[in-house]
Parts: sequence; structure tokens; C-alpha cells
Amino acid sequence: MMAQYLALKAEAQDCLLFYRMGDFFEMFFEDAKIAAACLDIALTARGEHHGVAIPMCGVPVHAAEGYLARLIKAGHRVAIAEQTESPAEAKKRGGSKTLVARGIVRVVTAGTLTEEALLDARAANWCVAIGEAGGEVALAAADISTGRFEVIETSAANLTTELARLNPAETIAAEDSAFADVTTSLRPKPGFDSARGEARLRDLYGVATLDGFGQFSRAALAAAGGLVAYLDHNGKGALPFLRPPVLRQSAQAMAIDAATRESLELTATTSGARKGSLLDAVDRTVTGAGARALAADIGAPLVDRAAIEARLDLVQLLCEDGGLRESLRATLRALPDIGRALGRLAAGRGSPRDLGQLRDGLDGAWRLGEKLGGVERPPALLADLAPRLRGHGALIDLLTRSLVATPPIDASDGGYIAPGYDAALDDLRDAGAGGRRAIAALEAEYRARTGITALKIKHNGVLGYHIEVAARVADALMTPDSGFTHRQTLAGVVRFNAPELHEVAVKVSQAGAHALAAEAAHLEDLTHTALARREAIAATADALARLDASAGLAERACEGGWVRPSLVDHACFDIVGGRHPVVEDALAKRGERFVANDCRLSEDSRLWLVTGPNMGGKSTFLRQNALIAVLAQAGSYVPASAATLGLVDRLFSRVGASDNLARGRSTFMVEMVETAAILAQATPRSFVILDEVGRGTSTYDGLAIAWAVVEAIHEDNRCRCLFATHYHELTRLAERCEALSLHHVRAREWKGDLVLLHEVSEGPADRSYGLAVARLAGMSPATLARAKAVLAKLEAGRAKTGGIAAGLDDLPLFAAAREEEVPPADPVREALAAIDADALTPREALEQLYRLKGLM
Ligand code: ADP
Repeated sequence: MMAQYLALKAEAQDCLLFYRMGDFFEMFFEDAKIAAACLDIALTARGEHHGVAIPMCGVPVHAAEGYLARLIKAGHRVAIAEQTESPAEAKKRGGSKTLVARGIVRVVTAGTLTEEALLDARAANWCVAIGEAGGEVALAAADISTGRFEVIETSAANLTTELARLNPAETIAAEDSAFADVTTSLRPKPGFDSARGEARLRDLYGVATLDGFGQFSRAALAAAGGLVAYLDHNGKGALPFLRPPVLRQSAQAMAIDAATRESLELTATTSGARKGSLLDAVDRTVTGAGARALAADIGAPLVDRAAIEARLDLVQLLCEDGGLRESLRATLRALPDIGRALGRLAAGRGSPRDLGQLRDGLDGAWRLGEKLGGVERPPALLADLAPRLRGHGALIDLLTRSLVATPPIDASDGGYIAPGYDAALDDLRDAGAGGRRAIAALEAEYRARTGITALKIKHNGVLGYHIEVAARVADALMTPDSGFTHRQTLAGVVRFNAPELHEVAVKVSQAGAHALAAEAAHLEDLTHTALARREAIAATADALARLDASAGLAERACEGGWVRPSLVDHACFDIVGGRHPVVEDALAKRGERFVANDCRLSEDSRLWLVTGPNMGGKSTFLRQNALIAVLAQAGSYVPASAATLGLVDRLFSRVGASDNLARGRSTFMVEMVETAAILAQATPRSFVILDEVGRGTSTYDGLAIAWAVVEAIHEDNRCRCLFATHYHELTRLAERCEALSLHHVRAREWKGDLVLLHEVSEGPADRSYGLAVARLAGMSPATLARAKAVLAKLEAGRAKTGGIAAGLDDLPLFAAAREEEVPPADPVREALAAIDADALTPREALEQLYRLKGLM
């Protein structure tokens, strides 16, 4: 057995091996130690290996799912070795001592789950492969719980942004790739070969060319091939459900990098919780699929105006027609998750209940389709969705006729095929039922015959049907002429058999076995019939999810008095009465009111410098505007009384270092790396919020960096930007930068107390209120008095020297400064610029290369 175990373990070295023994999955050696610690179960020992006791632990098969979930969550991969023959088959093969054959039937990893219990119903579960070829980079992403398959052409620079959007459960790349630091595991290189990938995909979808799915780059084929090879490996050849790939370009969504997602808390808070995120504050969906669609929408706002307007049109219809919204939501709420039921059926792990869910879900979809088909002048998106809800009539009919109302999860006891569907099955069941009635009649007869009123006919797995009486009255039945045969004596009871009973029992059990087999055959047929329509069913599931997401957004908009944003082509960002949905909710719970604020950026006033006291509401103001951009482009109404915005191609949010202590790297370093990324990437169509950038270092450094960053954003990036700072000195930039304007959050001191008004007004803050904030925070009067004295000294000093910003007035303008710093002409550069690369033969190119080297 150990030899068999070790051979299997060698096949799955990077996994914990679940080795099936009877009713348990056992783990041995290191695996046992790891699993026992992780699962908090007893570590025992079994036998010896090279003279040392073998550590062992095990989990019962019927409870394996829960244990698997914990191991996967803890970052492990689990290979499942099942018995691939029955003990009887093994005996037949090689005699009574023959070991049952076992094989790894499946590798369970975080990205390849389909089990309902292991998945979050409201989140997609992506497994992502990174592919590269000829300098290009692409991602292939599959959510096998629903069969979604996306291929995304991106670039090395955008890779982490795309990964941040998908938030994969698992990320793989080829062994020698440069992406090791963003992957969870590296896989053999041949799987990522683009030609092999193309062949595998053609084979998978039975097509001669992939052109029907789009024009795939080599990198895209490499990624998709790598992903499919991995799924093949994990499923041991049984590939899960993969719909035809949807090809996307990175540029089809607003680019939002990981740091921005984290700081804006789009789909999870900084601590990783869904609660407190934007998604949580917006989500009013009533189905898991709707919640997954909404999470995807918020995670990847669109940049195509027509597509956004199409979503908004549907949300508007559902906002305005409350009755339709209500009835739509009520129907959706009752529907099962057909996408995931289909995923389980396709993965070969479906149950009668999954078929029942398909039936109920498709039936509900049909009814919705009828209702929505009746909407007059439907918006384009609805006109597109409604027909996809119908069209499964024959399947619904079949499943309705064939299945009982609530089919069980476990098929092994039968009872899921409805009476009347199969006459032969009905006969078998009648025979079984007739037999059971005959047994009841026998029981009465035996009682009369023996005079033992407590005589019972019972059934168990060992004896089958048998007669049971109390030991003290059993003697009368022990005689050979009693007609009973003794089978078993236990404490208190004695068990017998009888020829008539045996005869009936055989009939009952045969009928039962045949009925079970008949049901199993039907289950297989029905599953097959349903899967033949998997594409159309998945499309229906998508349509339901989209409707739920739209209805949920409409519900949220009505609840919060949100408005439909107007999208325009020029780079404005004009929000009147904007609010922060998460902060507003939190304040409302405490009975406080949120102060709405305008944010009116235009081409002439695209950079707002926001100053004001700590706790005054600067961060909240910055973020609420970034969130409004996300919501608007996700196709949602926005928390404002009016909103007009030009589409945002990239969104950036950075928070000064001291708010980010949880990070591992030097926080100031992180702040600078992230700020550098913005300066390198933001375009005139981007939207940037910078909160106290420069704070993570000394005052002089910080001010200098903040100053230079504001100038660069103003002069070079020319994006829309909100910049919050406590460096009052920066307000001087207003004199030099024509599109920069000054704003502040208002505060007042009233009878010695600081009152924060959370109102954004024009102009710079009059003073910093630091000491007033300190008092608000409960600092002791003695300390405050001391701080006041120190401040007086510092201010006196500043009056004399001009303060830390002394001398800034004669700083040359940014553009002028750069001209001064232009490096002297470089002959190599000039020669390079003069070369027309396309016109060169390889030989000439080589000659040019020598000439260039000569110029160095
Ligand atoms: P700052 O960035 O200026 O230090 P924050 O934006 O973090 O201030 O806001 C501090 C607190 O003030 C928030 O947690 C919130 O409770 C409250 N606040 C902020 N903005 C508003 C507003 N517009 N209306 C009401 N309360 C607000």
C-alpha cells in the first residue's frame, strides 16, 4: 500500500494527497503533519517506513468538503486519489489479498472549484494564466463554476492592473517567465506554446479556425493554451465547462491599478472585507449571479460611451417604473443560481437537485421574458436580453415531467424521477411498494401465528429483511417446525428469517435495485440533454444576472435619490451636490447628515488644490468624486444632484504614506513609487486624486516633492486632478498654474471649539487649525498650552525668515526650468533618429549598429 501511496504522491508533489481508504481520506508523512495542524485534527501513526513510524491523519469522506475548503483557503492544493475499482474487482483481478487500484481523479485548487460550499455565491472565482509571445502579454481567465472564459490582450505595464481587476483565486505562468512574483504557481513551459494552445482550443470547440471568436494574438493563444493545459491537468483529462472565449483588450475598461482599487475600497476594504466597500454600499442585487455581475461592473467600469448609455437606459427604465422593478426583483429573488448549477453538471459533479435548479431557473426566466417582452419601447439592452430568457421550452417541459418537485442532492437513494415519466420505472416502484405491503401483511400473519404481538419485521444492511422478537419469547420460534430460521442472537433480541419473507424480500430488493438503475440512467440522459444546450443556458444566466444588476442599481438610485450622469466628450467633471455613498451610509446610521459638495472641474480649471484642517473632509471629498466616476462608467446612477462628466480612461488614487502603515515596504518608498507611476501614465483623459502626497517624509522634502508633482500634473499630464494637502505653501502655485484653483474645507472656531463644516469652498484655508483639532481629539490642556507656546515661537521665526517657503517666489516656472535642464545634443541620439529602420536590409542594419557604436 505504501508503494502505491508513494507512487501517487510522486505524481502530485506540489499537493497534499487525499488517499481514499474506505470511508476516509487519509494523509501520510509531511502531508499529515501539515493537514493535522491546519485542520486541527488528531495526528496519529500507522505502520513504519524505513523503521520510523508514519505520521497519519484522516478526514471522513462524507465531511471532506468542509476540510477541503479549509485547506484550500489556507493556500494548499489537494490531489484526490480515489479507488478506481471495487474490492470485488480487485479480488477477481488478483486474488483476495490484491490491493484496490487507486488513481488521482482530480486536483483541487483555489481557482478550479465548483462545489457550492467552497465558493462565495456573490463573487466570481477566476483562475488566470499569463501568456507571452513576441514581447506581447495576454491573460486567459476562466471561472469554471460558471464556464466564463475571457482572454485579455494587455501589456507588461498593464498586467498588474488587469490582475487587480480580476482578483484571481489562482494565477499561473510558464516556468521560466518573468511573472513569478504575481503568480501562485509556475507550470511546465510546453503548455504555454501558442501553436499548441491554438490547436487545443480548436479541438476543444470543434472548429477549424478560431477566427469566429476574434483575432487572437500569439500571446493570447499562449495564455489560453496554458490555462486549458492546467485545467486538463487538474481535472485529469476531464475538462470543466468552458464557454467559447471572449476576447477583450485592456483598453476596453477604465484602467484602475491595484493601489487605486485598494485606496478607493472598490470591492473590498483595505482589510479585505466586502462590508464597507463601494460595492457593498451599492449592491442591492437579489441573486448571487447578479452580485457577481455587479462586482465585475464596478471592478471594470466601461470606457465606451454607447455601452455605458445602454446600461444607463435600462437602469433609468427600472428607476422610473417602480412596479416593473419590484416584480422583476421578486421573481429573480426566488430563482436558483442556474449558472453555477450548470457548471457543476458540466464538471460531472451535478446532482438531481442541480437539474431541478435548471428547471426552476429556466422556468422563472421564461416568465420574466414574457413579462419584459411586453414592455413598450424597450431600451436596446432590454430588447437584447428579453429574447435570451425564453427558448428553453422543450427542456423546461422535459425536466418538469421527469423530476419530482424538490430533487435531492444525493442521487444514491433515488426518488428524484417523477412518477408517470417512465412506465417501467413506475412498475418497478409498484413492485417494490407491493412487496413492502406484502411484508407488512406477513408481519401481521406471523404475529397471529406465534401469538407474539411485539414481533417485528425489520431491515438492515447486513441481514436485509428479518423477523425480530424479544429474547424471552424467542424459544418458541427456535424449533425446526416453527417455520423460522434463526439468524442472530443479540442482547435482548433474537432475529429470524422465514422462506416467505425471503422470497418477498428478494423481489423488493431486486425491484429497488432496478428502479435505482433506471433512475440513474434517466439522470444521465437528462444531464446530457441539458448540457447539449449549455451555451444557451449560460446566455440566459448572463441575461438574468444583467437584469438583476440593473434592477439593483435602480433600486439603490431610488433609495438614495441618485441621478443619471450625463456623459460628454470633453474632459470636464462637473458634479453638483456630490456625496460619498459609504461615508453617507455610515453617518446616517449614527443619525448624522452628510454635507453634499460640488466638484466642478473643467478644461480651464482641471486641478483643484484642497486645503483645510485634518478631519475636515478632504479625503472624503476626493474619494467621493473618484467613486462617482467609477459608478457613472459602470453604468450606475451617481450620488449627486447633477453630474456631467467626460469619460475617464484611467483612474488613480494615492494616499500619503502615513495612512498606509499596513504595507511591508518603507511607506514613503511606496508612496513615491506609486506617485511616479501616475506621472508616467496619466493622460489628459485621466482622473487623479492625490491625498497628502509628500507627507511621508520631512517637511522640506515633502513640500518640495508635492510642489513638483502638482507642477508636473498641471503641465505634463494635464489630467483632471484633486490634490489635498496640508502644505499651505502650495497655494502659491495658483499664481503660476492657470488651470489650478484653490479650495478648502471650511471650519470655524466657535467659543473656543472647532466646528468642522465639511463644506468645500473656494479659496485657500485661512489657517491650519492643528491645535484646535488636537483639542477636539482630547489632548490635555497642559500639552495644548505648551504646543501653543511653541507655535508662537515658530510663527515669530517664520515672520522673520519668510518660513519654509521663503525663496520659492523666484523659482523659475516648471516648463522654463526644464528647458534650462535640456541635455546637450547627443550625436548617438541624432544618428538613431535619422535611421529609417523599415528601409534597412539586415546587413545595412548591422553596419548602422557598428557606426552607432563608433559614435559612443
Ligand atoms: P480629512 O481628509 O480632511 O482629514 P476626512 O475626509 O477623513 O478628513 O473626514 C473626516 C471625517 O469627517 C469623516 O470620517 C466623516 O465622518 C466626516 N466627514 C467628512 N466629509 C463629510 C461630509 N461631507 N459631511 C459630513 N461629514 C463628513
